[in-house]
Amino acid sequence: MISEFDIIRNYFVRAPRRREVALGIGDDAALVRVPVGQELALTTDTLVAGRHFPLGTAAADIGWKSLAVSLSDLAAMGAQPAWFTLALTLPEPDTAWLKGFSAGLFELADEHGVDLIGGDTTRGPLSITIQAHGLVPEGYALRRSGAQPGDLICVTGTLGDASLALALSSRASDKLRQRLNRPVPRVAAGQVLRNFAHACIDISDGLASDLPHLLQASGVGATVKVDSVPASRPFLAAVSPADRMLHQLSGGDDYELCVCIPLDVLDPAEQELDCPLTVIGRVTGNPGLAWLDAQGRPLDLVRAGYDHFLR
Ligand code: ADP
Ligand code: MG
Repeated sequence: MISEFDIIRNYFVRAPRRREVALGIGDDAALVRVPVGQELALTTDTLVAGRHFPLGTAAADIGWKSLAVSLSDLAAMGAQPAWFTLALTLPEPDTAWLKGFSAGLFELADEHGVDLIGGDTTRGPLSITIQAHGLVPEGYALRRSGAQPGDLICVTGTLGDASLALALSSRASDKLRQRLNRPVPRVAAGQVLRNFAHACIDISDGLASDLPHLLQASGVGATVKVDSVPASRPFLAAVSPADRMLHQLSGGDDYELCVCIPLDVLDPAEQELDCPLTVIGRVTGNPGLAWLDAQGRPLDLVRAGYDHFLR
């Protein structure tokens, strides 16, 4: 049987590539140097089998997604991902699973030039905890606080794809399933938006539950036009009209960014972005979040039957 140390050596040890990493895997702790003038952004996330991903999910997709959720948090802060640690709890040392998991994990790590610098390996029900660190120029990190009345509320990409893929399960198209299993963290967009936006949050639990966190942190309210929330072609082709709002507003796992940005810098920001940015609403001085229909009339989501989805 493969030992804990074999697992680490065979699947996770790789020479660190970043010059700030003085010591990677193999000692009691890793050593890193934070460049002068930069702040370190830290985030931790745990994925539990059956809760954060369906039990049948491919190991490579689990590896990718475990890191993607953390990189999305760094993106939302406007930070450049730098290195991460991995705490892995496994029911048994399944080498085929480990091979797939590490391949998916490093595929995304390599795309962003982030180093795995340490971790922990234990036996138990499958769960993956990643702590990721990123670098951001001092004073430039995007926070949830900072939104101001009059700011436009915008989202990157499209919303609802991952939630629809989960609901459709094996009936979901490849493109939709890709959005659920291989979310693309908006890392480059976060670093552009830190120069323009007042506030930012990543949408992991769904717009209807994440946007209120930002509004509360900023001490403001908002109006959002439900019909403006961007949807992808594969989403529109597969969703039933009755479920559209459910997936777009309450569905999680898209890992897009929601930002509050002044009108006069929207154009310059869009020109630097590598993804679409769509205006969906406005920040207001009155607390609370009002959902509006296409005519600008308040929409009663509770009466419309969405109350049990809006957490
Ligand atoms: P310790 O007992 O001092 O905590 P371990 O024996 O748990 O150290 O781990 C040995 C080395 O391997 C450490 O540098 C640790 O950070 C690293 N490590 C353990 N598990 C993992 C993992 N799943 N991924 C990456 N590095 C790991
Ligand atoms: Mg030790």
